[in-house]
Amino acid sequence: MPKSTGPLRLAPLVLAALLCATQGAFAQSTAVAPTPAQVSPEVDRAYTQLMASPAIQKLLDAVKADHERSVEDLKMLTEIEAPPFKEQKRAEAFLARMKAFGLTSAKIDAEGNVVGVRKGTGGGPKLLVSAHLDTVFPAGTDVKVKERDGRLHAPGIADDTRGLAVLLSWLKVLNDNKVQTVGDLMFVANVGEEELGNLRGMKAIFRDHLDIDGMVGLEPSAPGSVLVLGTASHRYEVTFQGPGGHSFGAFGLVPSAIHGMGRAIAKIADIRTPSFPKTTFTVGTVGGGTSVNTIAPDARMAIDIRSDDMGSLLETEKKILAAIDEAVAEENKRWNVSTLGVSVRLIGERPGGRTPSDSAIVEAAVRSNAAFGHKTLLRGGSTDANVPISMGVPAIIVGGGGKASGFHSLNESIDMTDAWKGAQNSLVTVLGLVGVQGVSPALLAKRTARTK
Ligand SMILES: [Zn+2]
Repeated sequence: MPKSTGPLRLAPLVLAALLCATQGAFAQSTAVAPTPAQVSPEVDRAYTQLMASPAIQKLLDAVKADHERSVEDLKMLTEIEAPPFKEQKRAEAFLARMKAFGLTSAKIDAEGNVVGVRKGTGGGPKLLVSAHLDTVFPAGTDVKVKERDGRLHAPGIADDTRGLAVLLSWLKVLNDNKVQTVGDLMFVANVGEEELGNLRGMKAIFRDHLDIDGMVGLEPSAPGSVLVLGTASHRYEVTFQGPGGHSFGAFGLVPSAIHGMGRAIAKIADIRTPSFPKTTFTVGTVGGGTSVNTIAPDARMAIDIRSDDMGSLLETEKKILAAIDEAVAEENKRWNVSTLGVSVRLIGERPGGRTPSDSAIVEAAVRSNAAFGHKTLLRGGSTDANVPISMGVPAIIVGGGGKASGFHSLNESIDMTDAWKGAQNSLVTVLGLVGVQGVSPALLAKRTARTK
């Protein structure tokens, strides 16, 4: 398994199927320009040192040996439901496991995230390693784990409970084997990754800890998959309001909220957006009106705007907001009144951006994947990594092992055969970044601490 490879070429940047966050984000597949890159000699050397180290080989053997026990953690955590905003019980169970594995200073923060720092020798970078606690499933969903056809079945078992179990396994083997990293490892089981959570957990982490130098998040992913791009989204609820009136009696005296909104939708529908960076918009839902013979006093719609580039998103947003204002003005002018108004409310906000493919964090994942015989596939999506990426903090999402399917459906399942290989691969990626005392230096650069 450990093989020494020279500098290698990155596969073209292809966005593969997306494995987490919103259903809508999953379905997209964006073609982007190929960005070939090489792994620097420094990165290559560090991973050669790691894979040749008897201490690291012993550690990786321990990951394999911990597999069965880790599956028990996976089942235990999966069976504690964790709907958005109701992650607390699962957080407490995760915290108890962290403490049992030696991270006694771990705590649950004000947002509900479980946070524990495993200190390095000092002077090194601080790397956040994370998985999310929440699932998309509402309270009362049957989360009992069932074994069938060699797979474990339960909602949320792969996304992202497997990631949580991998974090615990890493913590246990690092402590059991007394592996001393150079940089600090900040273990986080966060809340609020899925849709309604709006990344509230990760936003709180990066608001409260200004000294994080990078992030490696775990999500169900195929071997070799590395997420480097965070698709940004903004969502709006738009409400049009006027006096309303009888369709015959008040005709000519009052504007129509529905007609005003129709004007807005027609303008929005004509907006052009670039295909690269992929930028999209849609009026997803509409509603309003009182009866067929009433000039509508109210109308409302919800709009989703997404882009692989923040600038492009903001530009599209500006056009949409302008279209709404123009539409209201035109409807008022049509009846020579000023009684139609509109209010616009931001109901969803996910920042975004891209971790450069020639950054140390991406090269580290590429080189670690190569050591485990996997070609790297760079991909994009909407995940916890959106938060650090939008702040310029290098971040990636990788898999933790296991073949998963049916995310966000009641048929979610995971085949745990050889899942420990994925846990080893991702752990090696992490160790190269933080460095291991007496083995390899930290590849992740310390950043100048951000200020609030
Ligand atoms: Zn997920």
